[in-house]
Amino acid sequence: MHGLMMDTQLLVSMILRHAERHHPHREIVSVTADNPLHRYTYADCCRRTRQLANALDKLGLQEGDRVATLAWNDYRHLELYYGVGGAGYVCHTINPRLFPEQIIFIINHAEDKWIFTDPMFVPLLEKIAGHTPGVEGYVVMTNDENMPETTLKNAVSYESLIGAESDEYEWPELDERAAVALCYTSGTTGDPKGVLYSHRSTILHAYAGVAPDVINLSNRDCVLPVVPLFHVNAWGVPYSALMVGAKLVFPGPKMGDGETLYGLLESEEVTLALGVPTVWLALLQYAAKAGKRLNKLQRTIIGGAAVPESMIREFQDVHDVIVHQGWGMTEMSPLGTLNSPKAGMQSLTDDESVAIAVKAGRGIFGCELRIVDDDSNELPWDGVAYGALQVRGPWVCSDYFKLEGTGGSHMEDGWFDTGDVATIDPSGYLAITDRTKDVIKSGGEWISSIEIENTAIGHPAVAEAAVIGVAHPKWTERPLLIVIRAEGQDPSKEEILAWFDGKIAKWWLPDDVVFVDELPHTATGKIKKVELRKQFADYKLPA
Ligand code: AMP
Repeated sequence: MHGLMMDTQLLVSMILRHAERHHPHREIVSVTADNPLHRYTYADCCRRTRQLANALDKLGLQEGDRVATLAWNDYRHLELYYGVGGAGYVCHTINPRLFPEQIIFIINHAEDKWIFTDPMFVPLLEKIAGHTPGVEGYVVMTNDENMPETTLKNAVSYESLIGAESDEYEWPELDERAAVALCYTSGTTGDPKGVLYSHRSTILHAYAGVAPDVINLSNRDCVLPVVPLFHVNAWGVPYSALMVGAKLVFPGPKMGDGETLYGLLESEEVTLALGVPTVWLALLQYAAKAGKRLNKLQRTIIGGAAVPESMIREFQDVHDVIVHQGWGMTEMSPLGTLNSPKAGMQSLTDDESVAIAVKAGRGIFGCELRIVDDDSNELPWDGVAYGALQVRGPWVCSDYFKLEGTGGSHMEDGWFDTGDVATIDPSGYLAITDRTKDVIKSGGEWISSIEIENTAIGHPAVAEAAVIGVAHPKWTERPLLIVIRAEGQDPSKEEILAWFDGKIAKWWLPDDVVFVDELPHTATGKIKKVELRKQFADYKLPA
């Protein structure tokens, strides 16, 4: 017997309607290429999104057609999130940091019909346009006044595209399983793979995100997502924020600029900021150098890579900002875990709390977790057993775009294999120890490169660190630590190795330390271990 409840389809246009009705006066503030500080309200955003939807319909697109964006975080990009998806098309966010060959690959693979781009990416698109013949036209996200000269086909400015359109639009009643957005993983090997989100998965994920033990968003918050709109839906913030009516602040092209971020955090009275560790490193360095303190920010959610203990302590001790670590991935929309305290943990000592805060967090309702051994046997949640981390739930991908049924998604009896290796402790806190491919096995035992890297970064003379396994005649592999020195510092090998004393297991101590000026990174800022391993393939460890 079915229940007798309304079969309301979960669509992103629902959020827009709710936001306009309940929070019309809430502000959205953006740094853009053509305006250092653009301000408008939710009501303006909703009105312009309807104009955009009318304009998109006139481009002759069919339902499900892909419309791409190549842009930083600002209000026009937000309008595209809702306008493209809401009108029944698929918003394909392209990461501008990908190599041109990868961008060509994904535009062609996605069969993007139109591309909306920030002015600064016009030269890039002009260079590759000959390789992407399927694109019918380009919209430059600016007004006519600031429109650059371009050879791009059918190029128009965003403002002229939507300016004359009616602001009345009936959002279509789509099937909630219809695709709404597409994002490609920036894998370190092979071609990028497309993750195709549905309206339903997006709404459920955004709902989960606002919960108190997750992102904990409310109408009283002012949110600064430094996590890019072009990568994993900016962790769902564009949807969660409009659900609750939080004020939004977008940094535009100034994402990695500590001074701009500090200015926005203070002047807009941001209560919650989200980003990857690299971004916060830039902010903390700026604040330390300028002798400034974060006066308004209450909490930050950091994910995308392991968060070093030193960063957690600096936020808490110097700025009185609470750090919540999160873990997830493109294939998971991305939220999987979030680190918030459990009942009874308020009485823990500072050191005990930090020992928990360095972990990736607890599972979120809606995303099941398990760790398994090489034979797919489930491992205990004892905080010791390491295994392949697998997930399942309504916002986890079931297959990659156009690779359906090829096994490309490592699906195993309904579970998605994340490619991460983790432990889970008896309280349910997950700790990522490595990517499966990056695991170092020494004498048959696993060594966590992430833990060694995070400890190394705590040394004041270390700016960035990477650990890889290097061939060893007796132990098969031993860890090699590769370090970028902090500005003006010149630590010795011995000094760095002495730092680990008492901080990690003795047998995890790297066999050698190498100093470099640069480390290879992926388009999303992760260290490219594959390349490092190639670079150091013939490295001879000291006897
Ligand atoms: P992406 O799909 O580009 O967002 O990358 C997802 C991957 O980033 C995960 O599979 C992890 O390997 C890594 N990652 C994300 N969050 C964390 C975290 N808190 N600690 C360690 N690794 C993380």
